[in-house]
Amino acid sequence: MLVVAATQNAHKIRELTEITKAFGMTVISRSEAGVPDFEIEEDGATFEENSLKKARAIMERCGLAAIADDSGLVTDALGGAPGVLSARFAGVSGESADAANNEKLLALLSGVPDAERTARFVSVVTLVFPDGRALAARGECEGFIGRAGRGDGGFGYDPLFTPRGFEKTFAELSAEEKNGISHRAKALAALRELLSKGAG
Ligand code: IMP
Repeated sequence: MLVVAATQNAHKIRELTEITKAFGMTVISRSEAGVPDFEIEEDGATFEENSLKKARAIMERCGLAAIADDSGLVTDALGGAPGVLSARFAGVSGESADAANNEKLLALLSGVPDAERTARFVSVVTLVFPDGRALAARGECEGFIGRAGRGDGGFGYDPLFTPRGFEKTFAELSAEEKNGISHRAKALAALRELLSKGAG
């Protein structure tokens, strides 16, 4: 199945492509699908709302099946922040957003003891078909927020996040290791399950 990725984030596209190739999905980018560059405002209150909005917008522009991932980091000590605002947490966009977001998160958690630094990454993937039907699936990966960044792989909050049961952060794990346990991998596995049950 050929699907267009709604995201413009090259890291996310790489992960979506690597994870879904094992189940016969070919992910192409918006530019490969000839979709003109335009902004999709992520103004939903939930990952589910934003994910559906993005996938639907892209399907409507090109008439091909589209897949969106809306994701973020949910920390317990901060009442769920940054959550759906993960990408824009520090109010910075572009290249320096990840560093600014990580710095802000560390500052807000500076007085929080280790045992309370629990968090999870959440991903909601939505596949919208050309006839308008939509399938959505959620994946979560539990872990802890460190006191300083470690590792230079991955993207976003990866250097701060150690998945439960591991010593290394997401940014220190190989791409294969991250893609074996991540929120995105779990959401895509759940989507695959829905598709194999004939939900598509
Ligand atoms: P959005 O889904 O485009 O709203 O943005 C998701 C944001 O959540 C990203 O910009 C990252 O800051 C963060 N995020 C989502 N998934 C990951 C991940 O796998 N690693 C690190 N950060 C992530």
